[in-house]
Amino acid sequence: MSETAESLNFIEHIVEEDLQGGYPKKALRFRFPPEPNGYLHIGHASSICLNFGLGLRYNAPVNLRFDDTNPIKEEKAFVDAIKKDIEWLGYKWDTERYASDYFQQLYDWAVEMIMDGKAYVDSQSSEEMASQKGTPTEAGVDSPYRNRSIADNLEIFEAMKNGDYQEGSHVLRAKIDMASQNMLMRDPIMYRVLHKAHHRTNTDWCIYPMYDWAHGESDYIEEVSHSLCTLEFAMHRELYNWFLDQVVVSDKVRPKQREFARRNLSHTVVSKRKLLQLVEQDVVNGWDDPRMPTISGLRRRGYSPAAIRNFADTIGIAKRENLIDVSLLEFHAREDLNKIAPRVMGVLDPVKVIITNYPEGKEEWLETENNPGDELAGNRKVPFSKEIYIERDDFKEEANRKYFRLKLGGEVRLKSAYIIKAESCTKDIDGNIMEIQCTYDPKSKSGSGTEESMRKVKGTLHWVSVAHALKAEIRLYDRLFTDESPDTHKDKGFMDFINDESLQVITGYLEPGLKDAKVGEQMQFQRLGYFCVDPDSTNDNLVFNRTVGLRDTWAKIQNK
Ligand code: ATP
Ligand code: MG
Repeated sequence: MSETAESLNFIEHIVEEDLQGGYPKKALRFRFPPEPNGYLHIGHASSICLNFGLGLRYNAPVNLRFDDTNPIKEEKAFVDAIKKDIEWLGYKWDTERYASDYFQQLYDWAVEMIMDGKAYVDSQSSEEMASQKGTPTEAGVDSPYRNRSIADNLEIFEAMKNGDYQEGSHVLRAKIDMASQNMLMRDPIMYRVLHKAHHRTNTDWCIYPMYDWAHGESDYIEEVSHSLCTLEFAMHRELYNWFLDQVVVSDKVRPKQREFARRNLSHTVVSKRKLLQLVEQDVVNGWDDPRMPTISGLRRRGYSPAAIRNFADTIGIAKRENLIDVSLLEFHAREDLNKIAPRVMGVLDPVKVIITNYPEGKEEWLETENNPGDELAGNRKVPFSKEIYIERDDFKEEANRKYFRLKLGGEVRLKSAYIIKAESCTKDIDGNIMEIQCTYDPKSKSGSGTEESMRKVKGTLHWVSVAHALKAEIRLYDRLFTDESPDTHKDKGFMDFINDESLQVITGYLEPGLKDAKVGEQMQFQRLGYFCVDPDSTNDNLVFNRTVGLRDTWAKIQNK
């Protein structure tokens, strides 16, 4: 391995130690285990990059396992969305698995456990069971059903499976230790009765396994070597191991659970349950709303897979939870887009400039580079004419010497075009500038080789020819929450911190070549930021999303 030991994260260290201890490399196998109850979010990206990254590092298979044990919340549509997102991120799974594929095996093992006196049917209400649970410092109380006969347990469990009982009437519990220090070991529930159709097994089952029971055994069935999960499962490890003890045969791979910290991103929430709430309450327009921290939202927003992977790699894997500032994600978006996004011109808050000495009716197509950082990106032509738009805040009647944009009596270069000088301006009765009258230097055309064309002026502005401008709907996004950690307040819920101004829709004026831009295409509007074509875009109504600004200031563009 070429990397130095320092470049390994602590999970990789664990794997390395196992290998050094004689664990066969070819027995390494990983899995990414999403529950199909929502769309993947940026937190999942960390887990995906970790698991699939290990697969790549050790040339080991990585399964995609849907942890589909709860038909109340799970759907095929979520399965499809999850697969699409992982593929889009650039990862390939070895096999596609479902916990539901193992329902029969899990059931058979549960029956064996009953026969071994390791599981029993409890027929109390959930309230009664909760009242017997004890506290971390106080032992629990045994259920009156704990010593039910094996024959009775088998009979009732089978009847539960067959649908003979109502929901809530019985559960199957592991018979462990009601006095355990670890509350999770106090006879945890393995199965509950649920009369719900499952998206894969339909109505075959009237009982469904609990996560703790299904997860480790699924790892075992798939011969997963390292089962990596987030820290909230650290306390579950003892139970994970206990369940494995009931079924593991000595010559088979015994999976090993290890935990890493959940990743939280500032100014958002990373929990499918909370994201679902945003969708259901129409705070956003669906799971792929560009303000969502979902993979599909980021994709629609214009992020590339590389930006997300680089972000995940940079933050790495931690042992403790912390909050990652969203500006780090934006930094990676910018860094990647800077390399790949062609430059174009668009004006989002226009003011008209009339070039008084430019011939009426004349039109010139001026050459401009697509990406100054990429020689292979080539050139394109943009139309120039007597009337152009520039950005309203690129002009001031008066300004000091440090103002390099346009001011009365001052000069600027129009990008890839001419040097212009502001001579006068007209205003409406409220004092708003309606039009700026300029003159141009006909010999100053960029790239023309004349002395004037090389003349240095301090400011360069982007612009669009009025006659040729494409009108487009521009969606500007701000953070969805006003608080950096909206779901951590004692007295308020995350819904209390919704930013009412997270979406601003304005009209922009763009260079005409953009009419052929395809959905998803990314570009830099020079001096304004990175944008992409939204799926809502049509020939009659072009729609662009702002992915991220050029700098780390969330500059608001006023459009009055
Ligand atoms: P959510 O609360 O969003 O539903 P979850 O953990 O219940 O999250 P799963 O579908 O069970 O969602 O997650 C699949 C895998 O992704 C698990 O291994 C889980 O630990 C991991 N994961 C989920 N959220 C994060 C996160 N914020 N950071 C890192 N890993 C995560
Ligand atoms: Mg979950």
